[in-house]
Amino acid sequence: MSYIQITDEYKRYKIGENVVVANDGITFSVEKGELVIILGPSGAGKSTVLNILGGMDTCDEGQVIIDGTDIAKFNNRQLTSYRRNDVGFVFQFYNLVQNLTARENVELATQISKNALDVDQTLELVGLSHRKDNFPSQLSGGEQQRVSIARAIAKNPKLLLCDEPTGALDYKTGKQILKTLQDTCKNTGTTVIIITHNSALAPIANRVIKINDAKVRSVEINQSPVPVE
Ligand code: ADP
Ligand code: ADP
Repeated sequence: MSYIQITDEYKRYKIGENVVVANDGITFSVEKGELVIILGPSGAGKSTVLNILGGMDTCDEGQVIIDGTDIAKFNNRQLTSYRRNDVGFVFQFYNLVQNLTARENVELATQISKNALDVDQTLELVGLSHRKDNFPSQLSGGEQQRVSIARAIAKNPKLLLCDEPTGALDYKTGKQILKTLQDTCKNTGTTVIIITHNSALAPIANRVIKINDAKVRSVEINQSPVPVE
Protein backbone atom coordinates (compact mmCIF):
# COMPACT_ATOMS: atom_id res chain seq x y z
CA MET A 1 0.00 0.00 0.00
CA SER A 2 1.26 3.47 -0.89
CA TYR A 3 2.09 6.01 1.80
CA ILE A 4 -0.78 8.20 0.59
CA GLN A 5 -3.73 6.66 -1.21
CA ILE A 6 -6.62 8.96 -1.97
CA THR A 7 -9.49 7.14 -3.69
CA ASP A 8 -12.73 8.45 -5.28
CA GLU A 9 -12.64 11.62 -3.22
CA TYR A 10 -15.54 14.05 -3.77
CA LYS A 11 -15.99 17.54 -2.39
CA ARG A 12 -18.87 19.88 -3.22
CA TYR A 13 -19.44 23.39 -1.94
CA LYS A 14 -22.99 24.75 -1.71
CA ILE A 15 -23.35 28.45 -2.28
CA GLY A 16 -27.05 29.30 -1.94
CA GLU A 17 -28.82 27.37 -4.69
CA ASN A 18 -25.59 26.59 -6.52
CA VAL A 19 -23.33 23.62 -6.03
CA VAL A 20 -19.66 23.79 -6.98
CA VAL A 21 -17.99 20.41 -7.49
CA ALA A 22 -14.44 21.16 -6.34
CA ASN A 23 -13.17 17.55 -6.38
CA ASP A 24 -14.97 15.09 -8.65
CA GLY A 25 -13.65 11.62 -7.79
CA ILE A 26 -9.97 12.29 -7.10
CA THR A 27 -7.73 9.20 -7.06
CA PHE A 28 -3.93 9.15 -6.77
CA SER A 29 -1.13 7.70 -4.68
CA VAL A 30 2.16 9.02 -3.32
CA GLU A 31 5.14 7.07 -1.97
CA LYS A 32 6.95 7.97 1.24
CA GLY A 33 9.71 10.54 0.81
CA GLU A 34 8.56 11.78 -2.58
CA LEU A 35 8.49 15.39 -3.67
CA VAL A 36 5.14 15.76 -5.40
CA ILE A 37 3.79 18.61 -7.47
CA ILE A 38 0.06 19.01 -7.92
CA LEU A 39 -0.26 21.13 -11.03
CA GLY A 40 -3.29 22.87 -12.45
CA PRO A 41 -4.85 26.23 -13.25
CA SER A 42 -6.65 28.42 -10.73
CA GLY A 43 -9.97 26.88 -9.69
CA ALA A 44 -8.92 23.33 -10.66
CA GLY A 45 -9.45 21.96 -7.15
CA LYS A 46 -5.82 21.79 -5.95
CA SER A 47 -6.26 23.66 -2.64
CA THR A 48 -9.30 21.56 -1.85
CA VAL A 49 -7.18 18.39 -2.20
CA LEU A 50 -4.39 19.91 -0.09
CA ASN A 51 -6.79 21.01 2.63
CA ILE A 52 -8.31 17.53 2.76
CA LEU A 53 -4.86 15.87 2.94
CA GLY A 54 -3.97 18.28 5.77
CA GLY A 55 -7.12 17.68 7.78
CA MET A 56 -8.17 21.30 7.35
CA ASP A 57 -11.27 20.32 5.43
CA THR A 58 -13.22 17.06 5.09
CA CYS A 59 -14.42 15.36 1.93
CA ASP A 60 -18.00 14.32 1.19
CA GLU A 61 -17.05 10.87 -0.06
CA GLY A 62 -13.94 8.79 -0.53
CA GLN A 63 -10.93 7.35 1.24
CA VAL A 64 -7.90 9.42 2.27
CA ILE A 65 -5.36 6.95 3.57
CA ILE A 66 -2.19 8.43 5.04
CA ASP A 67 0.39 6.02 6.43
CA GLY A 68 -2.22 3.28 6.78
CA THR A 69 -4.97 5.39 8.39
CA ASP A 70 -8.10 6.68 6.64
CA ILE A 71 -8.24 10.29 7.84
CA ALA A 72 -11.60 10.73 6.05
CA LYS A 73 -13.05 8.75 8.99
CA PHE A 74 -11.51 11.02 11.65
CA ASN A 75 -13.72 12.96 14.06
CA ASN A 76 -12.88 16.59 14.97
CA ARG A 77 -10.65 15.65 17.89
CA GLN A 78 -8.63 13.24 15.74
CA LEU A 79 -8.35 15.85 12.97
CA THR A 80 -7.01 18.44 15.41
CA SER A 81 -4.36 16.03 16.68
CA TYR A 82 -3.47 15.06 13.10
CA ARG A 83 -3.05 18.72 12.04
CA ARG A 84 -0.89 19.48 15.09
CA ASN A 85 1.37 16.46 15.03
CA ASP A 86 1.44 14.96 11.57
CA VAL A 87 1.32 17.77 9.02
CA GLY A 88 3.32 20.90 8.34
CA PHE A 89 1.86 23.70 6.23
CA VAL A 90 3.61 26.30 4.10
CA PHE A 91 1.46 29.07 2.64
CA GLN A 92 1.96 31.54 -0.19
CA PHE A 93 1.93 34.52 2.19
CA TYR A 94 3.90 32.87 5.02
CA ASN A 95 1.22 33.38 7.76
CA LEU A 96 3.82 34.21 10.41
CA VAL A 97 2.89 35.79 13.75
CA GLN A 98 4.12 39.35 13.28
CA ASN A 99 4.93 40.16 16.93
CA LEU A 100 7.05 37.04 17.42
CA THR A 101 10.64 36.64 16.21
CA ALA A 102 11.61 33.99 13.66
CA ARG A 103 12.74 31.71 16.47
CA GLU A 104 9.56 32.29 18.48
CA ASN A 105 7.39 31.54 15.45
CA VAL A 106 9.08 28.16 15.10
CA GLU A 107 8.99 27.52 18.85
CA LEU A 108 5.25 28.18 18.99
CA ALA A 109 4.60 25.36 16.52
CA THR A 110 6.81 22.93 18.45
CA GLN A 111 5.04 23.66 21.75
CA ILE A 112 1.78 22.14 20.54
CA SER A 113 3.33 19.18 18.72
CA LYS A 114 4.46 15.84 20.24
CA ASN A 115 7.26 14.86 17.85
CA ALA A 116 8.94 18.25 17.68
CA LEU A 117 12.57 18.70 16.65
CA ASP A 118 15.08 21.16 18.10
CA VAL A 119 14.13 24.74 17.17
CA ASP A 120 17.67 26.04 16.59
CA GLN A 121 18.72 23.02 14.57
CA THR A 122 15.68 23.44 12.35
CA LEU A 123 16.46 27.12 11.77
CA GLU A 124 19.98 26.10 10.82
CA LEU A 125 18.62 23.51 8.40
CA VAL A 126 16.83 26.24 6.43
CA GLY A 127 19.86 28.56 6.63
CA LEU A 128 18.32 31.11 8.94
CA SER A 129 20.33 30.89 12.18
CA HIS A 130 21.72 34.39 11.67
CA ARG A 131 18.20 35.85 11.43
CA LYS A 132 16.47 34.02 14.26
CA ASP A 133 15.98 37.06 16.49
CA ASN A 134 14.47 39.18 13.72
CA PHE A 135 10.75 39.85 13.43
CA PRO A 136 8.99 38.95 10.15
CA SER A 137 8.83 42.63 9.09
CA GLN A 138 12.65 42.75 9.24
CA LEU A 139 13.04 39.80 6.86
CA SER A 140 12.84 39.56 3.09
CA GLY A 141 10.05 37.50 1.53
CA GLY A 142 12.40 34.59 0.95
CA GLU A 143 13.57 34.68 4.55
CA GLN A 144 9.99 34.79 5.84
CA GLN A 145 9.19 31.76 3.73
CA ARG A 146 12.24 30.00 5.23
CA VAL A 147 10.86 30.71 8.71
CA SER A 148 7.56 29.23 7.66
CA ILE A 149 9.31 26.11 6.30
CA ALA A 150 11.26 25.82 9.57
CA ARG A 151 8.01 26.18 11.52
CA ALA A 152 6.44 23.41 9.47
CA ILE A 153 9.33 20.92 9.58
CA ALA A 154 10.13 21.54 13.27
CA LYS A 155 7.02 19.50 14.01
CA ASN A 156 8.74 16.56 12.29
CA PRO A 157 5.61 15.99 10.22
CA LYS A 158 4.72 12.97 8.12
CA LEU A 159 3.69 15.35 5.40
CA LEU A 160 4.79 18.82 4.37
CA LEU A 161 2.00 20.54 2.43
CA CYS A 162 2.87 23.68 0.49
CA ASP A 163 0.27 25.94 -1.15
CA GLU A 164 1.94 28.02 -3.91
CA PRO A 165 5.06 28.47 -1.73
CA THR A 166 6.88 30.58 -4.33
CA GLY A 167 3.83 32.48 -5.56
CA ALA A 168 4.74 35.72 -3.80
CA LEU A 169 8.48 35.58 -4.53
CA ASP A 170 10.68 36.72 -7.38
CA TYR A 171 12.27 34.07 -9.60
CA LYS A 172 15.64 33.88 -7.81
CA THR A 173 14.18 33.81 -4.30
CA GLY A 174 11.57 31.30 -5.41
CA LYS A 175 14.32 29.03 -6.66
CA GLN A 176 16.07 29.19 -3.29
CA ILE A 177 12.84 28.20 -1.56
CA LEU A 178 12.35 25.27 -3.96
CA LYS A 179 15.91 24.18 -3.22
CA THR A 180 15.15 24.32 0.51
CA LEU A 181 12.05 22.19 -0.03
CA GLN A 182 13.90 19.70 -2.23
CA ASP A 183 16.76 19.48 0.31
CA THR A 184 14.28 19.02 3.15
CA CYS A 185 12.68 16.17 1.27
CA LYS A 186 16.03 14.52 0.52
CA ASN A 187 17.67 15.07 3.91
CA THR A 188 14.77 14.33 6.23
CA GLY A 189 12.76 11.84 4.16
CA THR A 190 9.65 13.96 4.65
CA THR A 191 7.00 13.57 1.95
CA VAL A 192 6.55 17.02 0.40
CA ILE A 193 3.52 18.07 -1.64
CA ILE A 194 3.57 21.38 -3.48
CA ILE A 195 0.58 22.81 -5.30
CA THR A 196 1.21 25.27 -8.09
CA HIS A 197 -0.20 26.61 -11.36
CA ASN A 198 3.37 26.97 -12.69
CA SER A 199 4.30 24.07 -14.97
CA ALA A 200 7.96 25.21 -14.93
CA LEU A 201 8.25 23.61 -11.47
CA ALA A 202 7.33 20.11 -12.71
CA PRO A 203 10.89 18.86 -13.51
CA ILE A 204 12.02 19.13 -9.86
CA ALA A 205 9.40 16.63 -8.61
CA ASN A 206 9.40 12.83 -8.32
CA ARG A 207 5.72 12.83 -9.22
CA VAL A 208 3.55 15.34 -11.05
CA ILE A 209 -0.21 15.08 -10.64
CA LYS A 210 -2.18 17.26 -13.04
CA ILE A 211 -5.61 18.35 -11.86
CA ASN A 212 -8.04 20.25 -14.04
CA ASP A 213 -11.75 20.90 -13.66
CA ALA A 214 -11.98 18.89 -10.39
CA LYS A 215 -10.42 15.69 -11.81
CA VAL A 216 -6.95 14.14 -12.01
CA ARG A 217 -5.95 14.36 -15.68
CA SER A 218 -2.53 12.69 -15.54
CA VAL A 219 0.15 11.39 -13.22
CA GLU A 220 3.78 11.40 -14.29
CA ILE A 221 6.58 9.72 -12.41
CA ASN A 222 9.96 11.29 -12.87
CA GLN A 223 12.87 8.87 -12.32
CA SER A 224 15.49 11.62 -12.20
CA PRO A 225 14.11 14.91 -10.94
CA VAL A 226 16.21 17.98 -11.73
CA PRO A 227 18.08 19.22 -8.64
CA VAL A 228 17.35 22.90 -7.96
CA GLU A 229 20.65 24.81 -7.93
P1 ADP B 1 -7.35 25.74 -6.90
O1 ADP B 1 -6.60 25.57 -5.62
O2 ADP B 1 -6.93 24.76 -7.95
O3 ADP B 1 -7.33 27.16 -7.39
P2 ADP B 1 -9.70 25.30 -5.27
O4 ADP B 1 -9.59 23.96 -4.69
O5 ADP B 1 -9.39 26.47 -4.41
O6 ADP B 1 -8.88 25.37 -6.63
O7 ADP B 1 -11.20 25.52 -5.79
C1 ADP B 1 -11.90 24.58 -6.61
C2 ADP B 1 -13.32 25.09 -6.83
O8 ADP B 1 -14.03 25.07 -5.59
C3 ADP B 1 -13.40 26.52 -7.33
O9 ADP B 1 -14.47 26.63 -8.22
C4 ADP B 1 -13.65 27.32 -6.07
O10 ADP B 1 -14.32 28.51 -6.37
C5 ADP B 1 -14.49 26.37 -5.24
N1 ADP B 1 -14.29 26.57 -3.80
C6 ADP B 1 -13.15 26.35 -3.11
N2 ADP B 1 -13.31 26.60 -1.80
C7 ADP B 1 -14.61 26.99 -1.66
C8 ADP B 1 -15.41 27.37 -0.53
N3 ADP B 1 -14.91 27.40 0.71
N4 ADP B 1 -16.70 27.70 -0.78
C9 ADP B 1 -17.20 27.65 -2.01
N5 ADP B 1 -16.51 27.29 -3.10
C10 ADP B 1 -15.23 26.96 -2.93
P1 ADP C 1 15.59 39.79 -1.17
O1 ADP C 1 14.26 39.11 -0.94
O2 ADP C 1 15.84 40.01 -2.65
O3 ADP C 1 16.72 39.13 -0.46
P2 ADP C 1 15.37 42.41 0.35
O4 ADP C 1 15.89 43.57 -0.43
O5 ADP C 1 13.98 42.47 0.89
O6 ADP C 1 15.49 41.21 -0.57
O7 ADP C 1 16.37 42.09 1.56
C1 ADP C 1 17.75 42.05 1.46
C2 ADP C 1 18.33 41.82 2.85
O8 ADP C 1 18.01 42.91 3.72
C3 ADP C 1 17.78 40.55 3.50
O9 ADP C 1 18.84 39.82 4.10
C4 ADP C 1 16.81 41.07 4.54
O10 ADP C 1 16.77 40.29 5.70
C5 ADP C 1 17.35 42.44 4.89
N1 ADP C 1 16.22 43.31 5.22
C6 ADP C 1 15.21 43.69 4.41
N2 ADP C 1 14.36 44.53 5.04
C7 ADP C 1 14.83 44.65 6.32
C8 ADP C 1 14.39 45.37 7.49
N3 ADP C 1 13.28 46.12 7.48
N4 ADP C 1 15.12 45.24 8.60
C9 ADP C 1 16.22 44.47 8.63
N5 ADP C 1 16.70 43.78 7.57
C10 ADP C 1 16.02 43.87 6.42
